[in-house]
Amino acid sequence: MKTVSVSQRDTRYVWHPFTPQLDMEPPVTLVRGEGALLFDEQGNSYIDAISSWWVNIHGHCNAYITKKISEQLNRLEHAIFSGFTHEPAVRLAERLLEKVPHMHRVFFSDDGSTSVEVALKMTFQFFHNKGEKKTKVVALENGYHGDTFGGMSAGARNVFNRAFENFLFDVVHIPVPVKGMEKASLEKLEAIVSGGEVAAFIFEPLVQGAGGMVMYDAPALDALLAVCRKHNVLTIADEVMTGFFRTGKFLATEYCTQQPDIVCLSKGITGGYFPLGATLCTGEIYNAFLSADKTKTFFHGHSYTANPTICAAANASLDLLEQEEPLGNIRRMVSFMQEQQQVFASHEKVREARCTGTILALEIKTGEATEYLNPLAEKVHVYFPPRGVILRPLGNVVYILPPYCTTREQLEKIANEIKLFLDTL
Ligand code: PMP
Repeated sequence: MKTVSVSQRDTRYVWHPFTPQLDMEPPVTLVRGEGALLFDEQGNSYIDAISSWWVNIHGHCNAYITKKISEQLNRLEHAIFSGFTHEPAVRLAERLLEKVPHMHRVFFSDDGSTSVEVALKMTFQFFHNKGEKKTKVVALENGYHGDTFGGMSAGARNVFNRAFENFLFDVVHIPVPVKGMEKASLEKLEAIVSGGEVAAFIFEPLVQGAGGMVMYDAPALDALLAVCRKHNVLTIADEVMTGFFRTGKFLATEYCTQQPDIVCLSKGITGGYFPLGATLCTGEIYNAFLSADKTKTFFHGHSYTANPTICAAANASLDLLEQEEPLGNIRRMVSFMQEQQQVFASHEKVREARCTGTILALEIKTGEATEYLNPLAEKVHVYFPPRGVILRPLGNVVYILPPYCTTREQLEKIANEIKLFLDTL
C-alpha cells in the first residue's frame, strides 16, 4: 500500500493559522526537539530562531520541565477550578505576585488573547460595579492584542481584522511614542482622557510584536502612564510577548517608574510547553468585585482554567528562571543582539536595525511599503529552512527572538545566514 506522508495528509485536512491556503507550500513535518533545535523526519535540524512564535524560552524538551509535568500528570491531570483548587495553581499565583509585587490577584485563562479579554472585561466591569460611566478604550496605533474580538478591537485596524471591522468596538488609537513621536502621542492621549470617559489604556510595553517589532523607550511610556493615573484611567500592560525576560527584565514595565494596573501574561509563562493566560490586577480592581451583591461577580471562566499540568509546567519554568544559568544566557544574548544591531545598522539593505533585550529586528529595504503583506516574507520562508534556520518575518521585518539556551555558535549561524540572505536581494 502506498504510504501518504504526514505533510500530504496535512495538506489534505488541516487549515493552518495565518497561512494563505491557496498554493500553500507543504509544511515541514517535525518529529523531535532538543534545546534550540527542531528536527524533521529526515533528521535535518532547524534552529528555532523565533522560539516557535515567541513561546519557547528554555529550549525544546527541557528535561526538568518534562519531568515536572510528568510527575504532575501522575497525580492530577486536570480538575474544575470553581469551588476547588490545587497546589500548582496556588503556587504559581504566589510566585507571579512575588515577582510583580504591586499586583494583588491572578486570574487564569487559556492563552494570550484570553488574558487580554479578561483584562478588558475586568476593566469595564470595575467601573460598572462602581457605578461610573467609563466605557472608552485607548490603545497604541499598530498594536496587536490577539485574535478574539476584544483583542482585535484593541489592536490596530489592518489586514488581520479588516473583515471584522464592523463588529469591533470603538477604540481610540494614539501614535506609538517612538523617537520623535513622544509629544504627539502624549498630546493625543491628554486630549482624549480629559473627557473623563476613558476606562483603559492598553499597550504592548517597549516592543510592539506582531506590528513589526516596533520599539520605544520607557520614559515615553512613563509619561503616558502618568497621564492615565492622573485621570483615573486603568492601564493594561500586554506583556504576552515581552514577559519572562524577553526584554532583559522579568517584565518590560520594570523599566518604567509608573506601574500598570493590569498585566497580561502568556507565551513564555509555561516555557513554551502549553497555552496558559494569566491576568494580574491590583487590589483596587479586585476590591470592586468584593460585594454581597452577586451581580458584581466576574462571570468569566474557561473549562481548563488553571489546568494543574499546565501550572506545573509554568512552575518548573519559573524554577529555571530563578537559576543562574538562564539568567547568564539572557545577559549574553542581550549583548549579542546589541553587537549585531551595530553590524546590521550599517548594512546597505537594512533600513533600520532595532534591538530591545533579546530581540533583534531588521527592517529590510524593499521596493514596497513596510507592512505584513510585503512579499519579502515569502522569500524568507523559502530561503531559511533548507539552511537550518526558522524565521517567520513580519512582512519585511526580519527578527530574531530565540530560546535563551541558544548557543553563541547557533546565534552566529542565524546572523550569518541573514547576512547571506541580504546578499541575494
Ligand atoms: N498580545 C500580544 C502582545 C501578542 O503578541 C499575542 C500573540 N502574538 C497575543 C496577545 C495573543 O496571544 P495568543 O496567540 O496566545 O492568543
